[in-house]
Order: sequence, then C-alpha cells, then structure tokens
Amino acid sequence: MATFRIFSNNDELSDRIEAELVPEMESAGYVRDESRQNTDIIFCIGGDGALLRLLRTEGFPDAMIVGINTGHLGFFQEVTPDGIHDFVEKLKKGDYHVQEYIGMKIRIHTTDGVTEFVAINEVVIKGVGERLTHLEVGFGKSSVTRYSGDGILVCTPAGSTAYNYSLGGVIMDPAVDTLQVTPMAPVNNIAYRSFQTGILLPTDASITVVPKLQDDHDRDGVMVIEDGRVVARGRDVQKVCVMVADKKARIFRFSGYDFWTKVQSKILGER
Ligand code: NAP
Ligand code: MN
Repeated sequence: MATFRIFSNNDELSDRIEAELVPEMESAGYVRDESRQNTDIIFCIGGDGALLRLLRTEGFPDAMIVGINTGHLGFFQEVTPDGIHDFVEKLKKGDYHVQEYIGMKIRIHTTDGVTEFVAINEVVIKGVGERLTHLEVGFGKSSVTRYSGDGILVCTPAGSTAYNYSLGGVIMDPAVDTLQVTPMAPVNNIAYRSFQTGILLPTDASITVVPKLQDDHDRDGVMVIEDGRVVARGRDVQKVCVMVADKKARIFRFSGYDFWTKVQSKILGER
C-alpha cells in the first residue's frame, strides 16, 4: 500500500488542512508513515518557503512532493486548501503527473574547507559592504569574465520566477533544463565592464565565482545566499562553484497543469 507523510509549516490553517487530509487519505487506502524511509508521497503544507525548507532539510527526496498552498504565493504548491477532497480523488485515479525540477549543487571554498549545498531556486553571491563588488566569473572550462556591481545570481528554471525575476531576469520554462546567470546592478563604463543582461547556460556547464576583494575597500567580503538563506559570509569565501545537481525534485501536478497558466495566474494575476 502506498505511504505518505507530512511536512508542514504548522500554522493554524496548515494544521486544519492536515486534520482534513489525513482521514481522506486513509479512507482512500493510503497509509501514514512518518519514518523517512521509502515514503511514496510527502505532503508539503505551507507556501513556497515551506517547500524550500523541505528540500533543504531532506536533500531532494525520491518521493513525490504534493504542495498544499497555505502560504502567500505558492508557485510550487498545486493543491488549494478547499481542494483536498478533489485532490484525493484524482490521486486515486492516477489523474496527475510528476514535474521534475533540476537543482543546483553549490560548493563553497573558504579558508576552513569546502561546504556543499543543493538549491532549487538560486544562489546569490553579493558584497556585504557598501562598496562596489568585483567578481571573476568562469563559465565552463575556459572563459572568464568580470562582473562589477552588487553581485550575481545563478538560478534554475524553478527559481527564474522568484528573485531572478525581480532583478529583471527572464522567466524560463522548466521543461527546458537551463541555468541563468543574472547580474545585480552591473556597472558598465570605461572603468568597469560587466554583461548588462543575463546569460543562459546549458546544464553541463559549471560556473565558478571568485571574489576579487580589495584590502582597503572590502572589509566585510561577500555573502553566499542559497534559496533565501545565508550559507557563507566574509572575507574568507574564496571560490563558489555551481553546477547542476544529480537529483531532481519531483512535484505533483494535476493533469491539466500548464506552466504558463501558472505564471499568468501567479504573476500577472486577473486581467
Ligand atoms: P520570503 O522572503 O518569505 O518570500 C519570498 C517570496 O518569493 C514569497 O512570496 C515566496 O512564495 C516566493 N517564491 C519562492 N520561491 C519562488 C519561486 N520559485 N517562484 C516564484 N516565487 C517564489 O522567503 P521564502 O518564502 O523562504 O522564499 C525564499 C526565496 O525568496 C528565495 O529563494 C528568493 O528567490 C526569494 N527572494 C526574493 C527577493 C526579491 O524578489 N527581491 C529577495 C530575497 C529573496 P510564498 O509566499 O509561497 O512562500
Ligand atoms: Mn515565504
């Protein structure tokens, strides 16, 4: 029998949804099993932030993740709080599919050693202080360019509608596996040159970012932010490498799911 477990942000609405969901699932023949081994379905009750937390705490699990939106936006979340019964019916009938999202492996080299994280949205490398930040960025094997400005962001298609979009980056359909490098307030003049637009890279590319600190200016160094959380900060961040991760996140979608309809409803809203 198929098993499920629950990851929740545990606010009042989420607790109510959980109380409705569990008996519905059990009477449809699914078994609740909160052990982390081999669960078939993980319910993620909350907003996109809850999904980011789930992936962060569990790595990218093999189970199918069903997002129930009790948060604000809910780009990853497919089920609405008033749609629990309908969802269980469709699940039982197999009337859905799994959308796979690539993640990014982020390797941070500091004077203390190497740490690794896996992101689904983006990684941001930006200056901590008030001065102009200079980054040496390598794409693939050879070509190296410099960015001067606030920093850069590297995102997956999933993350393209989040911070990337606010920075003027383009929206990428997750059906195309691509990485995007987006400059943050890039400077372009005769003193400093940076790409002014984003760059799209294939998924076998690796991106290397080396902060070029100036002793007198950059006392605070840079910070590295993975899916909205600071994971490294300071002068001793020597190099950040980004590449596509081995694992994908597997997210439940109703049969009628269409990425651009989701973009329309979550970004443009009512016309
Ligand atoms: P948060 O500060 O509570 O919320 C950031 C907002 O981004 C929330 O409305 C969240 O949706 C939404 N969001 C998250 N992932 C998204 C995606 N893939 N597509 C579209 N919208 C998305 O922090 P959080 O909820 O933990 O989310 C962290 C994310 O915030 C980061 O990964 C980064 O992309 C984003 N962020 C954006 C800016 C900016 O736009 N200037 C600045 C910092 C961080 P929910 O309401 O459903 O949680
Ligand atoms: Mn949030």
